[in-house]
Amino acid sequence: MELENKLVSILGKSVEDASDEELYTALVKLVKERADAVPPIEGNKKLYYISAEFLVGRQLGKNLINLDIYDSVKNILNTHGKSIHAVERCEKEPSLGNGGLGRLAACFLDSIATLDMCGDGIGLNYHYGLFRQEFRNLKQYEVPDQWLGGANMLKDTGVSFPVQLAGKTYMSHMYDMDVIGYKAGKNTLHLFDLDTIDESIVDEGISFNKKDIAKNLTLFLYPDDSDKDGQLLRIYQQYFMVSNAAQLIISEEKKKGHDLSQLHHYVAVQINDTHPSMVIPELIRLLVEEGITMRRATDIVTGVCGYTNHTILAEALEKWPLEYLQEVVPHLIPYIEALDYGVACAYHADPNLRIIDHDNRVHMARMDMHLSHSINGVAALHTEILKNQELHPFFIHYPMKFNNKTNGITFRRWIMHCNHDLSNLIDTLIGENWKKDAGHLENLMQYYNDENVLSQMFDIKRHNKERLAEFIKRDTGIELNPDSVFDAQVKRMHEYKRQQLNALWVIFKYMQIKNNILPPRPITVIFGAKAAPAYRMAKNIIHLILCLQELINKDPQVSPWLKVIMMENYNIAKAEIAIPACDISEQISLASKEASGTGNMKFMLNGAVTLGTADGANVEIRQLVGGDNIYIFGRTSDEVINLYATNGYHASDYYYGDEMIRNVIDFITGPELTAIGDADMLNEVRDNLINKDWFMTLLDLQSYVAVKETALVDYENQAWWKRKSLVNVAKAGFFSSDRTINDYNRDIWHLK
Ligand SMILES: *Cc1c(COP(=O)(O)O)cnc(C)c1O
Repeated sequence: MELENKLVSILGKSVEDASDEELYTALVKLVKERADAVPPIEGNKKLYYISAEFLVGRQLGKNLINLDIYDSVKNILNTHGKSIHAVERCEKEPSLGNGGLGRLAACFLDSIATLDMCGDGIGLNYHYGLFRQEFRNLKQYEVPDQWLGGANMLKDTGVSFPVQLAGKTYMSHMYDMDVIGYKAGKNTLHLFDLDTIDESIVDEGISFNKKDIAKNLTLFLYPDDSDKDGQLLRIYQQYFMVSNAAQLIISEEKKKGHDLSQLHHYVAVQINDTHPSMVIPELIRLLVEEGITMRRATDIVTGVCGYTNHTILAEALEKWPLEYLQEVVPHLIPYIEALDYGVACAYHADPNLRIIDHDNRVHMARMDMHLSHSINGVAALHTEILKNQELHPFFIHYPMKFNNKTNGITFRRWIMHCNHDLSNLIDTLIGENWKKDAGHLENLMQYYNDENVLSQMFDIKRHNKERLAEFIKRDTGIELNPDSVFDAQVKRMHEYKRQQLNALWVIFKYMQIKNNILPPRPITVIFGAKAAPAYRMAKNIIHLILCLQELINKDPQVSPWLKVIMMENYNIAKAEIAIPACDISEQISLASKEASGTGNMKFMLNGAVTLGTADGANVEIRQLVGGDNIYIFGRTSDEVINLYATNGYHASDYYYGDEMIRNVIDFITGPELTAIGDADMLNEVRDNLINKDWFMTLLDLQSYVAVKETALVDYENQAWWKRKSLVNVAKAGFFSSDRTINDYNRDIWHLK
């Protein structure tokens, strides 16, 4: 009653009379008030998690859950004829991230607070985020993702720091978002911005004048860096982020009266990928200004910092030209040069270890590895590859720094919020302990032969499929059949993730159905993916998939058996509808290329069975569920690494040597698709697959087709499939980000 009175008093009218929008605004206010009363988490040592991205997703539902008032609010709204889901949909999703790396940062903040650890996030307050994806003419277009304005969880702190950029001083502006733990205290996500940002400078799509830093600095996440101005802008953004971070850290430490020469006892900094790397020289610089010697400051900062590597793709390991850094952050150059000189003296100038290379490029990851006490990969296989391949020279010198921290996801969002029914069923079966200690999910194994429980789970899956079908119908007009198998590949578009492999399977299946070879039951293939604006092949593959969607869904012979849907602007909100509805989780990256994946974990937790390569965390999923409850195909990472080393893969051998492969590839530029799509784009896809295929699509096509056939046949043995699904949920506890964060704390942060 108290809650309802509060809500009505904020609304100034009855719940019945309020619109969903008004209810949303009132609930944000209510959450903020409740959050104010939640005690900030304190501790002797504090973590700062610095990240260019925080893909936090909508905040209202998550905060209601963590404040433990979600069901009460839902019931209040229900009794007055309102739907909490409709109210939640009024929230614009914060556009502060891009994909897995940003989502990981968001899951980590949730777990850190839930586990009562003192730790804040630090990032930038992008006005337009990455971009909003629109499909026109079966192609991706980018427009600004306008998420600010309207009620949201940001709080204006009025806090400001001076930041030197290219010799000029800019005053930052800090906005805070509360990070409320699940039935726990709260931490903060600090997002820095400039007051002078001018959104009106964006013209055509997402293009803008890259030179005017005062106006553009925090407009977009990952602005186009294909030219010098773009690269400079990224450096401006990165330094702006870490300079604010370093100043915030020092000012908080001074307020606490801590001795800065003991900073490593009071502060841990985690560097999420290489974007925040400049925090190292910046912190050293500030400590030197405080009167600490360079040598001592270097040791202190090394004791403070840990570095997380997220990828072995060379394109993602940042190397900035020294002259660009000289232009943007001249005051850091003496420090970076001194650090590089230290490396040269210590390691007899092994060129692979130098921070500044022969071409005067600054290797951010190398700086991180020399000047951090911890270097971690994000899944067991990934960490082994770092140690033995990509970062081997560093592993030789610093074996004790290397450690693995297999990624995780917060169960508050990825089951409690997105799959309420399954979450409630689990409560009735094994109690609620799993919400605080996910390992308890294993207790579900006692229902392995309980037909009643298995059917209840299956009914929930069916219900979630209907929910997704309704959503897609509303969104696109396309009708999905909830009795079909739902097979999903939703993630960023990248050739290493191999959406093109899935698209080739779709063509294979289309051709079979055309020849009256029908699958055991209809199949719905669901894609969702944004392509980086400058990544041509990724956009071509999106075009191919949209063409297939158009062709197949309108074909009266094929569409009863096969549907293809590409969700527009895939984001957290869409993930939360799609993932609980899926039967088969496609995790088909080229082995060795996906560092971990976290989408795979979300699907598993929601009862989907993985169809994937032995890559990233899929390897650990297989260990947990056993070979009967996962479908693994394709070459191993060792085989793939060997093929790269020996130049042993030639796509054309597969194209010319295998009729099925030739047929599906030629279909890409055949009359059916060129009648619908852009012949140049389709030609580029086909040409690339035959003549380049850097991520070895054709290598694994036959084994992919074979294992997918097996999975579809197995699905018909429903008694068996339900058990596979149950085992996947029961074994998912390991992938709780609570486990991951406990591991970080035990091995790296030592917060308490
Ligand atoms: C989890 C998630 C990702 C990461 O998915 P992967 O399959 O691990 O690449 C990307 N985008 C969104 C919206 C997500 O929720």
